[in-house]
Amino acid sequence: MTAGAPYRLVVFDCDSTLTRIEGVDELARMHGLEMEIAALTTAAMEGRVALEEVYARRLDRLRPDRQSVERLGTRYIEELVPGARETISTLRELGIEAHIISGGFLPAVTMLAEALRLRPDQVHAVALQFAADGRYVGFDIASPLARSGGKRVVCTELIQRFGKCAAVGDGVTDLEMQDAGADFIGFGGVVERAPVRRRAQRFVSAPDLKAVLPLLLEGMPK
Ligand SMILES: [Mg+2]
Repeated sequence: MTAGAPYRLVVFDCDSTLTRIEGVDELARMHGLEMEIAALTTAAMEGRVALEEVYARRLDRLRPDRQSVERLGTRYIEELVPGARETISTLRELGIEAHIISGGFLPAVTMLAEALRLRPDQVHAVALQFAADGRYVGFDIASPLARSGGKRVVCTELIQRFGKCAAVGDGVTDLEMQDAGADFIGFGGVVERAPVRRRAQRFVSAPDLKAVLPLLLEGMPK
C-alpha cells in the first residue's frame, strides 16, 4: 500500500465494465436464444425484476456446457474495455488490491482476470457445476452473487478485510457496493444506465476505463 493512496481496495464489475459484452447475452447468442434472454437481462439490470428471479430461469434455458463457458472467457478477453489492462496494472504497481465482483460465471470471469494478471482469489463470481463430459449440471445456488443484495454482501466482506474501498460498475446491482460503503464510480463507457448515472457518487462516460484512475488515485470527497 502506497502512502497517500486513498483506497486500499478497488472493486470492478465485469460485464460492460471490464469487458464490452454481457456474458449471458453472449451465451444466449451461441445458443440462438438471444431475444428471450436479452429481455430478462435488461429487466434485471434496470432493477425492474429481482436478480434471483431471472438468474435460475436464464441458466435453466441456457444450460451452458464447459466448452461454451470457456468460449465466453475468450470473448471476454477479445472484448476487453480499452484501458482495462492499464488501469489494473497501475493499481497493482501502487500496491492497491484490485478485485472483480460479478454475477457472471466464475470460469469465464477467471479467464478474464488471468488476462489482467489478477489472482483467482481476487475473483468473486458464480461457480458452475459440470459433469465429467462437460455438460452443465447446475450453478452454486448458495452464492450471494446469484441474488439481489449479493454484491453488497461480498463487498462488505472485502471492506472488512482490506479497508477503504472504491468500486466501479455500470449496473444497478453495482450500486449495492456504494450502499456497502465503497466510494462508487458509475462507468458509462460501454452502456450508460440512467438509474446508475442518477445515483452514483461519481459517473464517468468516457469509453476508456483509464478515465476512472484520477478518481481512484486522488479519492472522491463526498
Ligand atoms: Mg455490468
